[in-house]
Order: sequence, then C-alpha cells, then structure tokens
Amino acid sequence: MHELSVVTSIVKIATQEVDKIGGRKALEIYLEIGKLAGIEMSSFHFIWPQCINGTVLNDAKLFVVEPVGKAKCAECETEFQIDKSFDSCPNCQSPFKEIIAGKELKIKKIIIK
Ligand SMILES: [Zn+2]
Repeated sequence: MHELSVVTSIVKIATQEVDKIGGRKALEIYLEIGKLAGIEMSSFHFIWPQCINGTVLNDAKLFVVEPVGKAKCAECETEFQIDKSFDSCPNCQSPFKEIIAGKELKIKKIIIK
C-alpha cells in the first residue's frame, strides 16, 4: 500500500530531524499532500496513528494541507484545475499539459521539543 510507505518514510525523516537537533519528540508536523499525489487520505489517516505509535511523532499534532491540482495546457496555454492527472483541457480538449500544482508530497515543517 502506497500510503503505508509514505507514512513510514515520514516517521523516518521526523526521527532523523529530532535526532539531528538532539530533541526528544515532535510536537507538531505540517504536511503538504497534493490532490494528485496519489494518496488516499482516508487510508492515510487510518494508518497514521498505528505508524506513529511509540515513535517521536507519538504525541505530535498533525496538520495537512491538500493543494488542488492545476495544469497548463500545452496547446492553448489555458490554466485549469484538474481532479485527475488525465483530465483534458476544458478549452481545447487537448490531453497534453504540464501539471503545475497538486503533486506535492512533502513535510513542510516539524516543531521539535
Ligand atoms: Zn487547451
């Protein structure tokens, strides 16, 4: 499951960050997970408490922003919102486009104690 490997690597990175500054645990963690990142958020939130149990993230408050997908058409340069990465341009129906937002999958910030 994709979500499991994502959460596992978040825990790993958070642990390294806490170790790096000699902290004890993370108090807050801020994630950015784009709508096109391929993460099923219900699965993510289901897995999260199980994966952080006993780690530096055990008591950390989780904040997630989910940027919407945006693309720019390669034919007519229209910028449009997309829900799926294979959506076509609403202006000229071209399937060719550049994804400019929505594939984010990163840790924005970790507050460490
Ligand atoms: Zn177009």
